[in-house]
Amino acid sequence: MTDNTNQFTLIRAGMLVDGTGGPPVERATILIEGDTIRAIGPESEVLAPEKAKVIEYDYRGKTVVPGLVDCHVHLIGIGDGRAGDDLTLLPDELLTLQAARNAKTHLDSGVTTVRDCGAKNRTTLVLREAMNLGITTGPRLVLSGRPMAIVGGHLSYFGIQATGTDECRAAARQLIKEGVDFIKITATGGSTKTSFPWRPSFNVEELRAICDEAHSFGIHTAAHCVATQGIVNSLDAGVDTIIHAIFKDPDGRRVFQPEIAERIVKQDVYVNPTLMASEFGAGGHIDFLEQKKESGGLTPDEQASLDQMYRNRDERIDEYKAMRAVGITMVSGSDSAWSRYKMGDFQSELEANVIAGMTTSEALVSGTLDAAKSSRVDELVGSLEIGKKADILVVDGNPLADIKSLSNVVDVFLNGNLVDRKVSP
Ligand SMILES: [Zn+2]
Repeated sequence: MTDNTNQFTLIRAGMLVDGTGGPPVERATILIEGDTIRAIGPESEVLAPEKAKVIEYDYRGKTVVPGLVDCHVHLIGIGDGRAGDDLTLLPDELLTLQAARNAKTHLDSGVTTVRDCGAKNRTTLVLREAMNLGITTGPRLVLSGRPMAIVGGHLSYFGIQATGTDECRAAARQLIKEGVDFIKITATGGSTKTSFPWRPSFNVEELRAICDEAHSFGIHTAAHCVATQGIVNSLDAGVDTIIHAIFKDPDGRRVFQPEIAERIVKQDVYVNPTLMASEFGAGGHIDFLEQKKESGGLTPDEQASLDQMYRNRDERIDEYKAMRAVGITMVSGSDSAWSRYKMGDFQSELEANVIAGMTTSEALVSGTLDAAKSSRVDELVGSLEIGKKADILVVDGNPLADIKSLSNVVDVFLNGNLVDRKVSP
């Protein structure tokens, strides 16, 4: 990292959307000192100190928004449709290289902070070491290292299988010792072949042991839940973010339970709905089959499975709306590069939130300030406010009119520095 203290930067914006959900500001200027925002306001009022060394960027025809915060990624993912069970067979060295590539791809696409929700062994922690040494660049990292799983449970192949409260505490302490920023727990089964997706994994005592350890060291927890009982257990144990939040009974039937949703609100727990990766986008399989249908056609089995995916999408949108109706704060996280959802397209997740009922402004907040709050980095990033780090995305067009314009990336700033989007990691 270059030392840029006392270096001033002025960014002139045609329109500025600060990430807090407030109205946009026309013709605004941001003054940055080093890596920190010092002033924001009308062009005529924001000036650099006299005689200061100033770099100026003119984005008067563009829109300036905070760097996006993707609160759910898997940096080691390939995104080619392979199952996690197969991904984990690849050597750690290869996965670390892939993580570096994904990190740079996401940064170039405008995501300046990621929360990684589970990687194999020490791969992502090694990536952070490489970034600190200046070997590679990428977004700000919020890392869980390997997720906490039960024997044979979801993501257990990434390196931790804990049984009983003592092993859970020991594993949590081991992760904390290695420098993780939060603990990811798989509180139900999932796509892992040896797991049971619609049943809880850890019992409440085990979950509570993990949460107590995390909280006593000042870090948070996030739990994967694709079944109702996992959500309830996580709430009983004091988990901070519920991931997926799918309300299913052990027989796989979807039964939304408003009183549980209300508990989520009452306990100030965030929900990361992962629309694209779960039933809304089916992890990229809907797009994949639609493309296949266009190019060569589908077999009857494939068509039937596509029809089923659309029915699941409709159900999921209803569930998502019901959660929002009781007041749950939805935080955007892509879950890429899981399944077929490659990294570098967090914007699709924000668009999915709009299709499922958010306004464009709400979707932007869910992928900036609220995602930063759930990742416990909102004092640093997530909005364009005085005192925060200058993580900035410049786009062509107006994302409040059309959320898709967030993909028209012009420039990205990380810590006040313009990201070189031409170099690979
Ligand atoms: Zn995930």
